[in-house]
Amino acid sequence: MNEAQIVIPTGDGRIYYDMTGTDSPCTGCGACCRHFRVSFYHGELDTQPGGHVPSDLATQITPFRACMKGTESGYDRCVALQTDGLCSIYEHRPSVCREFPVFMEDGSLNPECVRLRILHGIPAWKPVRKTAEHASQHPLGMIAESSS
Ligand code: SF4
Ligand code: SF4
Repeated sequence: MNEAQIVIPTGDGRIYYDMTGTDSPCTGCGACCRHFRVSFYHGELDTQPGGHVPSDLATQITPFRACMKGTESGYDRCVALQTDGLCSIYEHRPSVCREFPVFMEDGSLNPECVRLRILHGIPAWKPVRKTAEHASQHPLGMIAESSS
């Protein structure tokens, strides 16, 4: 099985993670999308210059921050989480979602991912990690795959 996590340096010190469709190590259990308050700088909203997160799916929580509807108090599902576990605004999800990896830099599983799956009664799983770099094939960064 080829399970890959795409690592995308943002250029300002942050790292975004993307998944490779059917090769994704994320099972789409949705635990992370129905646990946290999914908050982010309001400049990411599509009502702001350069923003892209659909503002009709967000709630302004402070003068400068917004969160995905449904997650205002935490412990509830994000409005964009579909019943099939996929994100309905994947290409326009906020930065906080892009910064949540399945694998950590050292190759271990994200402990928050593991913790949330247990908390939500979802069976543990052991995704296979493969290692390769295809920086030239990805315009935004490198693809980091790994194998156990
Ligand atoms: S908790 Fe982990 S496996 Fe489940 S959707 Fe989030 S990242 Fe994917
Ligand atoms: S915007 Fe998408 S990825 Fe982010 S919490 Fe909501 S459903 Fe999950």
